[in-house]
Amino acid sequence: MLCKSCRTTIPVERLKALPGARHCASCSNEEPVGCVDIVYHKTGNTIQIMPRAQAQAINKSAKRRGFGSLASMRGGSGSEKPGAYVQPVAMIRRVTVEDFTIAGERVMHFIELGLRERALAEVQDAKKSRLITLTQVRQLNAIVDKFLPTLAREEAV
Ligand SMILES: [Zn+2]
Repeated sequence: MLCKSCRTTIPVERLKALPGARHCASCSNEEPVGCVDIVYHKTGNTIQIMPRAQAQAINKSAKRRGFGSLASMRGGSGSEKPGAYVQPVAMIRRVTVEDFTIAGERVMHFIELGLRERALAEVQDAKKSRLITLTQVRQLNAIVDKFLPTLAREEAV
C-alpha cells in the first residue's frame, strides 16, 4: 500500500493499527496522540488520550520537582511516534490532569510564601470553578495542612 500523497510504502504495522489508513504517518492529517497516566493500578493504568504536544507538556511538568502529589506520575506514551498504537482508554475523565496541575501550582505558590489562607482559598476557587474533583480538593487541602499546619503557624504569628 502506497501513501496517497508521497507514494512511499505505508508500514504494515501502521496498516494493522489503522486499517483505513491511506497516508503514511508524516502525510497524515490526523493529530498525533499521546497519553498521560491519571490513575495507577496494578492491573493497568488509566490513561487520558490527548494531542501529543499537550501530553508531552503535562508529562514534563509531572516530572518536575515542586508539586509533590504529581511527583509519582510518569506519562507513558507522550513520545510515541505519530501513528503509533495507543491502548484503548478505559475511562476518560472530564477533569483533566492539566487542570489539577494548574490548581496545584497555584496552591504551592502560596504555600511557598507561607500564606495558608490564600492557599486554601485557591483550593476553594478551583473547587467552585469545577476545575478539580472533590478527591483532588481533599488532596490539595491535605497538602496545605502538611506544609502549613493550622495552630503551629497561627500561634507563632
Ligand atoms: Zn506520505
